[in-house]
Amino acid sequence: MGKKSAKLFAKAQNYIPGGVNSPVRAFKAVGGNPLFIKKAKGAYLIDEDDNQYIDMINSWGPMILGHAFEPVEKQVRKTLKNSFSFGAPTALEVDMAKIITEMVPSVEKVRMVNSGTEATMSAIRVARGYTGRDKIIKFEGCYHGHGDSFLISAGSGAITMGEPDSPGVTKGTAKDTLLAPYNDLEAVRKLVEANKGEIAAIILEPVVGNMGCVLPEDGYLQGLRDICDQEKIVLIFDEVMTGFRLAPGGAQERFGITPDMTTLGKIIGGGMPVGAYGGKAEIMEFVSPAGPVYQAGTLSGNPMAMAAGYAMLKHIQENPNLYKKLEETGEEIVSGIKDSLTELGLVYTMNHVGSMYSLFFTNQKVKDLETAKSTNTELFGKYFQAMLKRGIYLAPSQFESLFLSTALKKKHIKAILKANRESLAEIQ
Ligand code: PMP
Repeated sequence: MGKKSAKLFAKAQNYIPGGVNSPVRAFKAVGGNPLFIKKAKGAYLIDEDDNQYIDMINSWGPMILGHAFEPVEKQVRKTLKNSFSFGAPTALEVDMAKIITEMVPSVEKVRMVNSGTEATMSAIRVARGYTGRDKIIKFEGCYHGHGDSFLISAGSGAITMGEPDSPGVTKGTAKDTLLAPYNDLEAVRKLVEANKGEIAAIILEPVVGNMGCVLPEDGYLQGLRDICDQEKIVLIFDEVMTGFRLAPGGAQERFGITPDMTTLGKIIGGGMPVGAYGGKAEIMEFVSPAGPVYQAGTLSGNPMAMAAGYAMLKHIQENPNLYKKLEETGEEIVSGIKDSLTELGLVYTMNHVGSMYSLFFTNQKVKDLETAKSTNTELFGKYFQAMLKRGIYLAPSQFESLFLSTALKKKHIKAILKANRESLAEIQ
């Protein structure tokens, strides 16, 4: 790692817990010190030491069109001139709400917030208010931000740091969060039976990004839909990662399953801090001031965030072909990695959908947290470092998905596959 990044990391630790503002950034799971990023353009990140990397994380998803995408930058600059926050309604936030409801039809009404965490916290509050019930079901290894109710067997940085259940979450809160393994309908049926009439919501990532990329098995999402219909439980798809990525209408469009509520983030901010939650009008009418469930935000619908997000969504809506390009890029990278595994005689598991994928260092099928944990995290750490040395910036944990962007051209794909083959050969 470069000298400037090392110096900054040492300095940061004097002022910031662990030197970072979000745990997984600390590179704890992969060894070494984190890179401090100075700027980014298109497919590249540039660190403080002026090293250049092909970015496979894209700010954990939002930069689906590559960094500093011009139409987004232009809109932000234009909006900036009128000042940055009013704490009052704006025309832009109405455009934003309209485009979200057009692209994700199950979202009839939507409320903007400032992060994915706020979106999921608010969504379950509304589901509880709407149903008059307290309990929720979440799945082991799914991450829904750092709200208390979700820091129970949580994925992403929580598993990476070995802290899937956080101190500070009270027993009172934890008792209302029921847990089931992902992809196991029977476990959900049993929980629902044992807590009849008490469950407000089932929340899940329709494709998991937070224990690495894990796909729903055939019939799983439909099975959950059926259980929710029978028991009048609110089905919440947390599409903070998958929204506008796996299809213009997210995973719900791709898999053809309609949730009652959806949480969004990442892409709808175009890189600015944004989240949103929405769903059936009948449910969203419970949100204050239309209804009794309180939820608010000084900076919610912030003009800068709305400018970036709206420009991004507008571009996506007007250029649906970009999904074909994302699919092809994903396919080419994943099949290239698989070819290298075969050539090298290695049997590792690749999970992939569209522009999300994870290579797990295990020969087991990865379908839930238990199987995800069968991966060799030490080997992943070596792979990460070998790729970084070759100019490819992967997510610094096995329990994260990678996110591709439309900025990846043939030359980048070639460089990724070359680095991948060399890295896999080096670490065995
Ligand atoms: N839900 C999911 C599925 C996520 O992946 C994340 C963050 N990666 C969140 C919620 C929380 O979003 P934020 O970090 O913006 O609070």
